[in-house]
Amino acid sequence: MAELLDGRKLARTLLEEIKNSSNILKSKGVNPTIAIMRVGNKKDDIAYERGILRNCEKVGIRSKVVELPESIDTEKFIKELDLLNNDSETHGILIFRPLPKHLDENKIKHLISPVKDVDGMNPLNLAKVFEGEYSGFSPCTPAAVMEIIKRYEIDLVGKKTVVIGRSMVVGKPLSMMLLKENATITICHSKTAELQRLSSEADVLIAAIGKTRFVTEKYIKPGAIVIDVGINVDETGNLCGDVDFDAVSNKASLITPVPGGVGSITTAVLLRHVLIAAELK
Ligand code: NAP
Repeated sequence: MAELLDGRKLARTLLEEIKNSSNILKSKGVNPTIAIMRVGNKKDDIAYERGILRNCEKVGIRSKVVELPESIDTEKFIKELDLLNNDSETHGILIFRPLPKHLDENKIKHLISPVKDVDGMNPLNLAKVFEGEYSGFSPCTPAAVMEIIKRYEIDLVGKKTVVIGRSMVVGKPLSMMLLKENATITICHSKTAELQRLSSEADVLIAAIGKTRFVTEKYIKPGAIVIDVGINVDETGNLCGDVDFDAVSNKASLITPVPGGVGSITTAVLLRHVLIAAELK
């Protein structure tokens, strides 16, 4: 039976560290603050927002939500973004994605101030991730995966590592971050031939697909380390990952659960980025 990579436990440790750093900053007169931009009232966004606000309170980070109507156009959205870019009291800005299709995300992502871009959306920050440079902000989800790897002391050097998924939010930046740690990366996607064979050769398998329990035990090499980024709702309305946890945990050596895995750490990573942004200021 695989050992659990416990995201909740790790998140508690991270939040404690963040709280201490936040207190130090406050004693120097800086009040770390995050602004969340939410368009509309999507259930997922509201749930994520609630988690962020709760954790902000726990660690003493100030938060504000800029709630925008679904009907907002790109120009008006950019005006709101500019207000936050120019607000000296706001250190980090998080824009909930994906934005509604009528908004020009490609334009918007260039306009978020890179020094406040705590979810690594601006191509200037992503370029740093691709260059293997740590001075910018990486997207929080891949950073959360790397946090698990680091804190559980998983040695990636020379390891065959398969990432299923190539989005700019997860798969692609994560692959670059793993490469920086000297893993040997195979990036898979919906057009990959022999996905099952490639996956079953991996020492480390990371699933970021968005398909309920897609990865079964047939995809797993005995003793592999399995990290599940997926957040899906199954046919009974329960939260689950891209990995069939029950089947795969009989074959893997280490595995993240869903819920209680990567998702638990993402918010802590986000708040750490807010502190870094406040310190930079
Ligand atoms: P996405 O943009 O939809 O990308 C999904 C990726 O999976 C794409 O690259 C797609 O390939 C690939 N894919 C889809 N079907 C496949 C198949 N049958 N075989 C192989 N590859 C396939 O999703 P995302 O934003 O990266 O998110 C992925 C998952 O992570 C979702 O479940 C999402 O909810 C979750 N997520 C979790 C967190 C967290 O904090 N834990 C944060 C963000 C996202 P193509 O490129 O060829 O289409």
